[in-house]
Amino acid sequence: KTHLVWLRNDLRIHDNYALHAACRDAQAKVIALFIATPGQWQKHGMAPRQAEFLWHSLQDVQAALAQKGIALYQETSSDFAGAVESLMAFCKKHHVERVFYNYQYEVNERDRDVQAERELNKADIEVQGFDDSLLFAPGTIQTGGQAMYKVFTPFSKAVIKRLQQELPVCVNAPAAREGAPLARKPALKKFDYPCQGYDQTLFPAGEDAALKRLRQFCKTPVGEYPDRRDIPAQDGTSRLSVYLALGVLSPRQCLHRVLAEHPQALDGDRAFVWLNEIIWREFYRHLLVAWPALCKHQPFVDWTRNIRWQKNDRHLQAWREGQTGYPIVDAAMRQLKTLGWMHNRLRMISASFLVKDLLLDWRIGERHFIEQLIDGDLAANNGGWQWAASTGTDAAPYFRIFNPTTQSERFDAGGDFIRRWVPELKDVPDNGIHAPHEWAKKNQQKLAYPAPIVEHKAARKQTLDAFEAAKN
Ligand code: FAD
Repeated sequence: KTHLVWLRNDLRIHDNYALHAACRDAQAKVIALFIATPGQWQKHGMAPRQAEFLWHSLQDVQAALAQKGIALYQETSSDFAGAVESLMAFCKKHHVERVFYNYQYEVNERDRDVQAERELNKADIEVQGFDDSLLFAPGTIQTGGQAMYKVFTPFSKAVIKRLQQELPVCVNAPAAREGAPLARKPALKKFDYPCQGYDQTLFPAGEDAALKRLRQFCKTPVGEYPDRRDIPAQDGTSRLSVYLALGVLSPRQCLHRVLAEHPQALDGDRAFVWLNEIIWREFYRHLLVAWPALCKHQPFVDWTRNIRWQKNDRHLQAWREGQTGYPIVDAAMRQLKTLGWMHNRLRMISASFLVKDLLLDWRIGERHFIEQLIDGDLAANNGGWQWAASTGTDAAPYFRIFNPTTQSERFDAGGDFIRRWVPELKDVPDNGIHAPHEWAKKNQQKLAYPAPIVEHKAARKQTLDAFEAAKN
């Protein structure tokens, strides 16, 4: 008997539901498969840094599986349609009797899986899918009226209530397969996709590194998180997003680790604030399933389709390159360009700037982020953009517009973050750093830094007018 684990966004051996189920029968031979789909990745705009991280994660999980006597093979096909054909050919070649896989929730991925199940059924191969990348399966956290929540806070409360009744279990890594040759590693082929190196000190690849970071974060930093999480100059967040996005880590592992260190986390302990972020992740994934149009970049709020966005390549370019003349926005965009990662507060500020100060279509920003982020994830990215653009469910109200200078004064008071990323401003004192040109004018200084490309007050008014016109 041969069992196949079809790995996709679940590149780990601990707490992997499909892998665990495939290994339950001690008599079965277990093998694993990963199918690279560079054409599909291109369509989805996967960031070259994420591709490189994926490549490292694949090698890591292959080594870990090999130690358990499970060989991981790799196939390549351009897109998802081709992936189903590759899967079928592979099953035939290896005489697979049962296939185990973990669900993905985006529409193209779900269509692929429906197609795969159909073909497997036709070939009399049993197949079983698992809700693995979430605390709870989509559709199981519902309002009294049996609908998906449209607002986060009651969703979060419902999740907490469920967690207080029963925790989703973490399953162990499989034991080594009896009688299977250990350390067998079929050749892996580097993806035929642009890959780009990333900072391996900030994002060390592999499951061990992810677990180590999680353990360390859940000890002290998680308690300091409520005070530090909004300050980009500090290393106050977990930086676990890349592992969660690619399934190198599961949200259940996060939950259990926090509870091990902070048993009161579900009862409003300081560590709860972090857990609530994991629930945001959950919320956006559940939303994708309830409203698949979100995957197609449709706004949640219908009237926002009528907004007349500006077209301005010069502004767009300045935003992308971190040359807008707003230091906090520029520091953020340069962090993104250099690291492929951006602090959450800055994602909010820079997204708001694109939409509300430049009045450019949020979808342009959404695509740019996905193409840059090492932790790019459709659900979280779309959720974040629709929040910032006021087009989403439970989004920022359209008339509440971030003032980038005030945000900067609040969250980077001493200008430390700005100076790190915008060295042109390193000699500007704290009281001038948030609006350096005003400071320079007063003090008759010259700055080698662009003047603001828009004036916030006027831009705000223009945006309010555009939203109001669309609404009426
Ligand atoms: P922590 O603060 O330590 O949070 C822990 C985990 O919770 C994160 O790793 C992440 O998995 C999850 N999480 C935290 N905040 C959110 C949130 N607002 N929504 C959903 N999940 C969350 N996150 C991504 O993983 N991928 C994206 O592509 C992405 N794009 C974003 C775009 C915009 C415009 C905005 C405003 C937010 C976006 N986020 C995205 C959410 C958030 O910014 C990142 O998850 C976070 O900055 C990652 O850093 P961390 O791991 O240190 O987070």
